Amino acid sequence: AMASPSYGSRDAPLRPAEPFEKFSPPLANGERAAEPGATFPLRLPSKPSLGFLDEQPKNVDPLVLELVNTKVVERGPPVQWSDIAGQVAVKAAIEEELLWPILRPGSYSGTSHPLRTLLLFGPRGTGKTLLSRCISTQLGSTLLRLSGTTLLSTWKAEAEKILQTVFLVANCRQPSVVLITEAESLLGDDNGQAGNLKSQLLSYLDNVATSSEHNVVVIGTTARPGSMDEASHRRFGTRLYIAPPDGAARRHILRQALARHSCCLGERELAALAQRTESFSGAELLRLCQHAGAARRALPGAPGSYQELEKALGKVGPAASQKELDLFLEWDKMYGTRH
Ligand code: ADP
Repeated sequence: AMASPSYGSRDAPLRPAEPFEKFSPPLANGERAAEPGATFPLRLPSKPSLGFLDEQPKNVDPLVLELVNTKVVERGPPVQWSDIAGQVAVKAAIEEELLWPILRPGSYSGTSHPLRTLLLFGPRGTGKTLLSRCISTQLGSTLLRLSGTTLLSTWKAEAEKILQTVFLVANCRQPSVVLITEAESLLGDDNGQAGNLKSQLLSYLDNVATSSEHNVVVIGTTARPGSMDEASHRRFGTRLYIAPPDGAARRHILRQALARHSCCLGERELAALAQRTESFSGAELLRLCQHAGAARRALPGAPGSYQELEKALGKVGPAASQKELDLFLEWDKMYGTRH
């Protein structure tokens, strides 16, 4: 049997025991407080009053800086809350605990440090990266995205310099979000180079978490939370389970994706399809619709039909088994921040 988690003192400074007990909702004149159960998204201030920095770090290797500016700094399209189906509780938690205190610093009256570090865990393709990009859009921030495995394999020789430069650039370009995908590869039990990178990353996490005048947010994502060591994942102020979409969210994703492939299903067929795709991730649902769309294009003139989707179901299945999903739930119960 697994031991129940002990909440060591290391956790204490990062986050109040009850999230933001003293947090008063940041409402400007004329705004109404959201009713409990109000529909998402809640309104955020239209103009964040953040000081923007746009400097280049000094005294860094120009080649590494160039690499960070071209390969790590992201310039993708903005992502809005409405682009993410489902995840209502996760979105609300992120908005209240992470975004509001940053966007309305005056209204945060908590005694401990505001939240700056976030671990998103869950099966592949459930929208962890999408959510992170949305957070960055909402903050109007610079996004720096780095994969733990790329850092360890492709950029091996320069890994420590790159990680350092990423955080220097993040500091210079505030507000900023540093997104580390496959975070478990940097935060496992390894020794050697991964061990050095790990202590480096942990010290950046601590810096970001304790310097509240800085607007740098670090988000780690992982599909293998179990291979992170406990001291590491506890360094994140909040740990949120990003589960596969529920039935309503699956219907929403399927409806939109099928429309893009000019496949039209009736509401009953759509509901049946949503039922048959339980535990599919958002990414797998999109893949399913792509298969059906390709089959449709191969037969010009044929209407998009349920049969094509049934055939596609034979080719695309959920990547995570029920057993794996149960393990995520178990991990969430032990270490996740429940909402
Ligand atoms: P992860 O980081 O969890 O592996 P991603 O964020 O990369 O997953 O998701 C891959 C793609 O799947 C997204 O770009 C998006 O198109 C789609 N997707 C996943 N989850 C959702 C969702 N909840 N709503 C809409 N699209 C989703």
